[in-house]
Formats: sequence, structure tokens, C-alpha cells
Amino acid sequence: MTSPEKPTPEKSAAFSQLALPAAALDNLSQMGYEAMTPIQQQSIPLVLEGRDIIAQAQTGSGKTAAFGIGMLEALNPRWFAIQGLVLCPTRELATQVAGELRKLARYLDNIKIVTLCGGQPIGPQIGSLEHGAHIVVGTPGRLKDHLRKETLKLDNVKVAVLDEADRMLDMGFEEDLRVLLGATPTARQTLLFSATYPDEIEAISAAYQCDPVRVSVELHHNTAQIDQRVWHTERLSKSEAVASVIQEFTPEACIIFCNTRQACQEMQQSLRDLGLKSLALHGDLEQRERDQVLVRFSNGSSRYLIATDVAARGLDIDSVDLVINADLPQDAAVYIHRIGRTGRAGRSGIAISLCSDRDQHRLSRIEALQSHPLSRMAPLPAPTPERLTPAAEMVTISIAGGRKEKLRAGDLLGALTRSGGIDAAMIGKIDIGDHACYVAVHKKVAADALDHLREGKIKGRTFRARRL
Ligand code: AMP
Repeated sequence: MTSPEKPTPEKSAAFSQLALPAAALDNLSQMGYEAMTPIQQQSIPLVLEGRDIIAQAQTGSGKTAAFGIGMLEALNPRWFAIQGLVLCPTRELATQVAGELRKLARYLDNIKIVTLCGGQPIGPQIGSLEHGAHIVVGTPGRLKDHLRKETLKLDNVKVAVLDEADRMLDMGFEEDLRVLLGATPTARQTLLFSATYPDEIEAISAAYQCDPVRVSVELHHNTAQIDQRVWHTERLSKSEAVASVIQEFTPEACIIFCNTRQACQEMQQSLRDLGLKSLALHGDLEQRERDQVLVRFSNGSSRYLIATDVAARGLDIDSVDLVINADLPQDAAVYIHRIGRTGRAGRSGIAISLCSDRDQHRLSRIEALQSHPLSRMAPLPAPTPERLTPAAEMVTISIAGGRKEKLRAGDLLGALTRSGGIDAAMIGKIDIGDHACYVAVHKKVAADALDHLREGKIKGRTFRARRL
């Protein structure tokens, strides 16, 4: 539901040098892809040759196309059998990957890509599978359920992808991965993407890949645009320090990372006590709450999102201008991943890490990985309520109908502007889900918009609406 950033492509890497049909190349240029990103440059030729790869790449690097372009070329579109399998740790990532694959597949007629994730009813998924599909993208638990029910057959898979493999292992999916890969033919091509390489990843690679080629992009590549600083503070509490940083930098959109779910909840409460309203994303949320948090953050209804790494993994949220590490992570690669949420697409970003004496060894690991020290920040003044950034200007209205009810962004825009008489400039991002839509509107017109949506008709029908 979010619109991901475009990574900066390298000039010297024309797609036309790849052995791809003209229609595929045309489609890429229609998508606005002018040149390959570094991970694509390294991976696509290998994938097209049929090699197994083990690639170090983050979301935002163009990794979906890095495996997707080759996967589509390996399919037989006329054969309605599952030939491509993509395993992802979260539903958000699976949805993003499926969306990107559908765009990449536009040059082929009639390629069907099905998303199968937990947290959603299984019945409609079974229905989709009965109609036949070429590619399935999903989370391991749900895919395994389908396998057990025999509603999914993987014995024609030619290409299997493990996306964010380290995160799938962190989430305890190892056994599921083994079952799923075990149900595919041994002659398949296996593409493994991971941000880090713990021993378990090596073990999975050794068990399921054949002579894999390692591909990696400089970790530093994405961090050049990011102003990274460390604030040693023992004087203020963590939440006061976070509020001071916010007061200093007045971000439009800021992600605050904590190491545990409990720390997230405490941070949210303490910031509220200081007068800052924020959203929190952690493992305790139900899928629908999670979707709503993401929508509200990405459409500008909240400036501050507090998150754990697991919850934030794979999210592709536009234009975050400030990342705060309230806690430093154990693993230096996680730090790089966190700060990569800002400074995207040539824009500059700021990453501030709070650090106490106890965190010193974590800081040293991060500095060693980046091979340069982070700059130390002069102490900031304590937060004062008057100087804290005002609350977001937008609010989100949720409407109880979505794509499956045939609602489109234009219908909502029409209902609000034409019949509701609301100025289009007051309406922000519109997200359409399967059974819900979310419209961001300026808070000045929120009450009007809500009245109108409740009383008026959208496409001649009445839908329930409420302010989130
Ligand atoms: P990913 O890392 O796969 O999540 O991709 C991040 C974003 O970059 C997505 O919005 C892609 O559509 C976009 N993207 C991928 N490859 C390219 C490319 N070569 N040129 C421009 N944009 C790209």
C-alpha cells in the first residue's frame, strides 16, 4: 500500500545489454527503469544463466527486479502450473514483491501471480489457486498450510526465492522453509537474499543451493546521503532525549527504533506524557492494526513511528527525514538497515543514535563496519512543550469498502470533491485495501469529509466511515 522509493541507478548499466526480449526491455523503460541498480547489475546476468545466487541486498536496492526479471524469463506462460515460488517474512513484503512482479510481467500475456499470506482468510486463497497460477508469493506458515491441505503443489517450481532469509529465520520459519523447499524439485534454481549471513543462512544455502555465486553491494552505498550522529546522553531519559532530537530537527516523518516491543510501548507512553503523539509498530499488533498504523504514517497523519526491527523489516515507507535509534542494535548490520530508511533517492537524511556508556561496544562495532567514526553531537536542550513540533496536519478516514467492493481512488476523490464540495488540495494520499480504503484529509475539513462520506453515496452505495 506504500509507494516505494526509486534507488539511484548506475549510469553504465543499461538493461539493453541483457539477453532479454524487446518487449521486456520496452516494459522496463515504460516502468521508468533507465538503468540497472548495482544489485541488479550483479545478479540479473547470473539469474538469466540459471545460476543459484546468495545476495546481500536490502529493500530499496531494486532486489525484486534483480530476481523477478530472470524468474519471468524462466516461466512458460502457456503452462498453468506454479513455476515460481517467492518466500517472504511478512505480508507487507509479500504484497510489495507481488505488486512489483505484476508490473514486471506486463509484457507477458496472462501471467498469474497469487499472494498467500497468514492473517487472511484461507478460503479465497484456495479459490485463486484452483484457477491456476504461475507464481506464488507468500509467507512460509501459510504456504505450508496450503501444502498440507494439498491446495498448493510445488512440484513444478523452476525458480525458488528466499527473500529476507535472515528475517525468516529470526521469525522461526526455518522448519517451514525446509518443508517448502523439500516439496520443490531438486533441479530448481534457488535465489537467496539476506541482509546478514549468520551460520543458519550458510546452512540453508549449503542444504538447498547448488554452487551458489555470492553477490553483494557495498553496505556504504546507501548511507552516503545520511548525516549520522551520536548523542551521548546520561542526563536525560531516553524519551526526553528523543523529544529533544525531534525538537531540534523538526522532522516531517521520523522513525524511532527500540530494541524490544516493551521498550516501544514505554517510549510511546512517555512521549505522550511529553505531549508528542506517535504510532507504534510491534509484534503485538493484529494485522489490521498494523496496516492502519502503516497507512497513517505513510499518508502523513502521524509524524512519529516507534518500531522494533522485526516489525519494521521490509517496510518501504517514503521520505522519512529522521531516524532515531533510541536503543542501539546488537548487530551492526541492523543499524545500517535502520538508517537506510532515510536518505533515499538522492535526498538527504539524518540518523541520530542515542548512546550511553554501556552502549560503547555496540557503537564500536557499527563504526568498524562502516570503517569510519560517527560524529558526536553537542548536547541538545531538554524538550519544552512550546518548542515541540506541532501534531500532523492530516488525519485518516477509513471507509469500510475496498478493491473487492470495486472502490477506486477516483471514486473517493469524486465523492469528496464533486458532491462533497471539498477542495482537492485538502485531500492527501488514498490507500485502497481489499476491504477497506483510507483517505488522508486535512484536519480542517475532516469533520465535513466524514459527514459527507457517511451520508453521501460513493458510487451510489453507502459505506461505513470513521476517523482513525
Ligand atoms: P525493491 O528493492 O525491490 O523493493 O525496489 C525498490 C524500488 O525501486 C521499487 O519501487 C522498484 O520499482 C524500484 N526500482 C527497482 N529497480 C529499478 C531501476 N533499475 N530503476 C528505477 N527504479 C527501480
